[in-house]
Amino acid sequence: MKHIVVVGAGQAASALAFKLRALKHTGAITLIGDEPDLPYQRPPLSKAYLLGDMTRERLFLRPQSAYDEADIAVRMGGAVTAIDPGARRLTVGDEQVDYDTLVLTTGSSPIRLPAQIGGDLKGVYCVRTLGDIDAMAPHFATGKRALIVGGGYIGLEAAAVAAKLGLNVTVVEMAERILQRVASPQTADYFRALHQSHGVNILEGVGLAKLMGDTEVTQAVLSDGQTLDVDFVIAGIGIRPNTALAQSAGLTIDNGISTDAFGKTSVADIWAAGDCASFPLGEARIRLESVPNAIDQAEAVAANIMGANAPYVAKPWFWSDQYDVKLQIAGLNTGYDAVVTRSGDKPGAVSHWYYRGVNLLAVDAMNAPREFMVGKRLIEAGKSPAPDMIASPDTALKSLL
Ligand SMILES: Cc1cc2nc3c(=O)[nH]c(=O)nc-3n(C[C@H](O)[C@H](O)[C@H](O)COP(=O)(O)OP(=O)(O)OC[C@H]3O[C@@H](n4cnc5c(N)ncnc54)[C@H](O)[C@@H]3O)c2cc1C
Repeated sequence: MKHIVVVGAGQAASALAFKLRALKHTGAITLIGDEPDLPYQRPPLSKAYLLGDMTRERLFLRPQSAYDEADIAVRMGGAVTAIDPGARRLTVGDEQVDYDTLVLTTGSSPIRLPAQIGGDLKGVYCVRTLGDIDAMAPHFATGKRALIVGGGYIGLEAAAVAAKLGLNVTVVEMAERILQRVASPQTADYFRALHQSHGVNILEGVGLAKLMGDTEVTQAVLSDGQTLDVDFVIAGIGIRPNTALAQSAGLTIDNGISTDAFGKTSVADIWAAGDCASFPLGEARIRLESVPNAIDQAEAVAANIMGANAPYVAKPWFWSDQYDVKLQIAGLNTGYDAVVTRSGDKPGAVSHWYYRGVNLLAVDAMNAPREFMVGKRLIEAGKSPAPDMIASPDTALKSLL
């Protein structure tokens, strides 16, 4: 019976292992992860868990007993440092582990602020792991001064939690505006106004020049020369896929571990899924950093390992929670040339619909779950209603399906 080994024990790994059992793989399954804890969900780290609204226990995707019952071996606390594809063997610490089939679900790592500008001072944090949050949590007390570097979703979610807990929060975004890489000016305007209404100081077109302090950060110097006194700093400046292990084993890397539409890498019997993997979507090669993709792609790979021979068809969607606003995004807005606004029926409810020419690409729905659901279904079906139909309050959305 085949021994399937999964390297990286996070969202994708857990989904993959249980899908293999559901599809009646009867051989051994081993998950190997370098974090101390069983696989857990990351989204609450910058939302309910950071806010103190969710217990640690509820973060775990499944309890140890579920892995035991499914006969899935989980080895935490040790990184895989080498793969020998010829011998089908891995190195973990000073041990060797043999595999028949290997899946890489190594996720991604946050980009850190360089040490030359004070990124290695105490009090400077990233938001990726449970350990990161537990380390920064003591700073989340009323009146503390937080500097968030980067106005993307992670930074803005951390800013929302900090503001809710009564901290003095400044967000610096080097680009012209927050959410520049991921959303339209209209969506950025919405979230800027939301944060400002909660007292967050949002500085755009301003970078971080340097962090100051003896051992612990006490001050930030910004690119426009102004200085801010700070008690701690959170960097939310993007992530990079964890590809070093795959690269050293000779796998092709192209904006992530390169896979075909089935999840196979360039090396026999090695597959990849989740944040670390790039895959073809139409003419393009993309990598998605989201829970829905980690789960769906991992399950597709499990099915293909079991012989399904079915290409993975991504149905991108994502969410973000800030204050009492739930943002839901369907589709990918890459290459949009127009944005249509549809007002919702409650204050603060609005959706932004991205078009390229006549084609609907994506929807950002703020407290507008119906718009999200309809937009998602339209995009998945390849339907593109005329923009003025979307904008008109007289259009019953469901009639567009
Ligand atoms: C704070 C935060 C908030 C988020 N919010 C959202 C959200 O609202 N909605 C959404 O859709 N997505 C969100 N995401 C993204 C989502 O969590 C990720 O896309 C998802 O976790 C990816 O799953 P994965 O299994 O690919 O990687 P991960 O869950 O990161 O798992 C990869 C694991 O592999 C381990 N690993 C790496 N290399 C090795 C090695 N050599 N040996 C052993 N182990 C290794 C890593 O340490 C990690 O534990 C958020 C992410 C973060 C950090």
